[in-house]
Amino acid sequence: MEKILLKNIENPNSADINEYKKAGGYGVLPKAIGLQPKAIIDEVKKSGLRGRGGAGFPVAMKWSFASGDPKFPKYLLCNADEGEPGTFKDRPILEKNPHLLIEGMVISGHAIGAEYGYIYLRGEYPVAKKILNKAIAEAYDAGLLGDNVSGKGMKFHLAVHQGAGAYICGEETALIESIEGNRGQPRIKPPFPVNVGAFSMPTVVNNVETISNIPYIIENGGDTYSKIGSPECPGPKLYCVSGHIEKPGVYELPMGTSLREIIYTHCGGIKGNKKLKAVIPGGVTTPVLPPDKIDCLMDFVNMPKHGSMLGSGAVIVMDESVCMVKVCLRILKFLEHESCGKCTPCREGTGWLRGVLERIENGEGSKGDIDLILSVSDNIMGKTFCPLGEGAASVVQNFVKHFRPEFEEHIKDTGCRIHDKKHASCIVHHES
Ligand code: SF4
Repeated sequence: MEKILLKNIENPNSADINEYKKAGGYGVLPKAIGLQPKAIIDEVKKSGLRGRGGAGFPVAMKWSFASGDPKFPKYLLCNADEGEPGTFKDRPILEKNPHLLIEGMVISGHAIGAEYGYIYLRGEYPVAKKILNKAIAEAYDAGLLGDNVSGKGMKFHLAVHQGAGAYICGEETALIESIEGNRGQPRIKPPFPVNVGAFSMPTVVNNVETISNIPYIIENGGDTYSKIGSPECPGPKLYCVSGHIEKPGVYELPMGTSLREIIYTHCGGIKGNKKLKAVIPGGVTTPVLPPDKIDCLMDFVNMPKHGSMLGSGAVIVMDESVCMVKVCLRILKFLEHESCGKCTPCREGTGWLRGVLERIENGEGSKGDIDLILSVSDNIMGKTFCPLGEGAASVVQNFVKHFRPEFEEHIKDTGCRIHDKKHASCIVHHES
């Protein structure tokens, strides 16, 4: 498949504006600005592009909600806050292909009628910040940002806003709060940001990967784009693969590539030829899958049929040496730490889950503990402001569903068999 998102990144100077232009970059911008906003939205609708941040919401539909709102000004926010353990798919775009993102932002801004855009960047991405700021300055110098973009009279200004390291600011309303200078906590929806977003004005929040698809769609047409990948979820997808794998990294493949193909064909299989034990397919809050499920197709429609989700496409591979209780505990520690504290079921529930998991892992669990964590999880589900709390509950439910004997063994044998053999390895490291 022709590379669209990671095009030209082997060039050591790929982030430079002249190299981007040499490879055809900014070529479609004058045409795009000359189009009516509705024509751009129609082309994106034809492409079938869905948001790549995890929810998979149709992009054209989101844009049409904001563009149809008569309030002005409107804002375009790019979510570059990929803070979930194992998620690093946007990083190559930010560091190696920043002008693709900038070009996508200008075209998207024109489509929704926004004159101001912000790239909300993860606090732990200082290298990307430097590169993005340099690229934005280059674009201003070249007349591709500012009050008269490409001499066509369109106004679009762009700036980087760096977060302070809170995972929850990847949630769109918490991100908006943070951009406004407030504490990063989610807002109640509705109203949705497309109507009442940043500074109370209509706001579109799109992920880095989503926006980076736009120049290709406008240049080649929505119909051409829609033929890439799976029919229900067209386009290329960035899969970032980590864990016990021979060749970890970010892979641009057609949407709907199977987990098996990603792991065994593109990533060279399990490290050291060990047996596969489990895969977390889309970031740590997506349901874990056992080895017999890896023929599932990685897209927004097929993954739920197999009991999981595409999420961000962050694939974490675990071999037979991994203790699943320990991994579950490690994820819960992360989520407890990142819970913003706004709603009780999440604030208290993640702590309870972590505490009980900790005693099971330490060999101090009692007979009713598995039922207890399932009951706490049930009580979190459907009762939180944002998906973090439900994500924590779902992690516990799915680890128990697929690996219950391991939890029972920890309680019965008062400890971890794998640990005792000193083979344990937790691949979900994310000290915050
Ligand atoms: Fe905050 Fe958790 Fe409630 Fe989300 S679910 S608003 S992270 S306390």
